[in-house]
Amino acid sequence: MPVSSASPLPSKKSNNRLTIPLGPQQLIIVTGLPTSGKTTRARQLHDYLAARLANPDPSSNSTPTPNQPQKYRLHLISDTTLSISRAVYDLSPSTLPAHVRSANASEKDARAAVYAAVKRVLSPRDIVVLDGLNYIKGWRYQLFCEAKNVGTGCCVLQVGCGGDVARGVNEARLARRDAKGQEEAQQQPDAAAAVDDEEPYTPSNWENLVFRYEEPNPMTRWDSPLFTLIWEDGEARTRAVFDQVWDALAGDARKPVRPNQSTVQRDKDPGGDYLYVLERETQDIVKRILERQAEEGGGEVSLPRVNGGEGGEELVVELPGKKVGLPQLQRYRRAFVALNRGGIGLEAVGKLAAGRLRESFVGYLNDAFEKDG
Ligand code: ADP
Ligand code: MG
Repeated sequence: MPVSSASPLPSKKSNNRLTIPLGPQQLIIVTGLPTSGKTTRARQLHDYLAARLANPDPSSNSTPTPNQPQKYRLHLISDTTLSISRAVYDLSPSTLPAHVRSANASEKDARAAVYAAVKRVLSPRDIVVLDGLNYIKGWRYQLFCEAKNVGTGCCVLQVGCGGDVARGVNEARLARRDAKGQEEAQQQPDAAAAVDDEEPYTPSNWENLVFRYEEPNPMTRWDSPLFTLIWEDGEARTRAVFDQVWDALAGDARKPVRPNQSTVQRDKDPGGDYLYVLERETQDIVKRILERQAEEGGGEVSLPRVNGGEGGEELVVELPGKKVGLPQLQRYRRAFVALNRGGIGLEAVGKLAAGRLRESFVGYLNDAFEKDG
């Protein structure tokens, strides 16, 4: 079984010696929350790459020669191209059809199908855009190993989006499907229904996938280089990120990937990495809220402004009357991370930035609790 052939995850210790790889990164793993815009970005990237392959240097005036064979073949692989249903990710036993062995087994079969599809085409002469949840870190590691096996590399494009926006997209799809079901019973489906006819997730499946999502960590070899696009990123920003993805590929214009807002600087000191600091500080706040809530039973919770700086300046979180659970806190945390992932330059990194991030996350939580409460 090819899926289990990858060796276990390497220890975190070895990750601190990383330097920016020079490519080629011909497997592009798209990842993100369910209904966060992954397929949209994957298609945009596919179209962009197709255009770049036809004309590798758009700044030069030379016209592309159509008869010249292209250096790479381009592939787009997704659950849809492999006819994998959203239901394979559903772990709730009540919604499983009787013939499915177990929820986990159906998802494993789906991953094996994706793995086989990638393996079939990936080579130093092929570029593969893999559109999907790709939410398990061990799975991304397996793909990384597979890419290495065939003599190429991989990179990750994370699509970020606030949880409420993504949930709204799924709800709209559910509503559309229900409406379409009724309509079909009466007459032919109309043309407008074909605009977004992607299969929705059942609400419990969607929530569960958000909860299970394992954020890419640019400190690891298999999640780097990590490129990020958020929902709000417009054409210019998208193009700039795609240009960097192109540079990470073994194109004629190949050059080292330069760290900036979307590629993350890796450093011997993990504290010098913005996305890492963002993850670490927000996780720490979630952890402390849960601890204090258990001790004090809600109300106001004080947290140190500086991680580990007990006894110093404090930040206050006002919890709503009812108990706040880990899933809810993680949802807010992910939304906050998605919002802040793209926006801040690396120059803001450091102790100061960590303090500001904590402050800003606490402010975000207070707003959210007030709105919900
Ligand atoms: P996923 O593949 O993650 O499930 P999709 O790419 O299918 O998500 O996008 C879900 C819906 O959101 C689609 O209707 C798409 O048109 C819309 N959408 C996706 N990305 C954006 C964006 N950046 N801005 C506005 N709408 C978007
Ligand atoms: Mg999709």
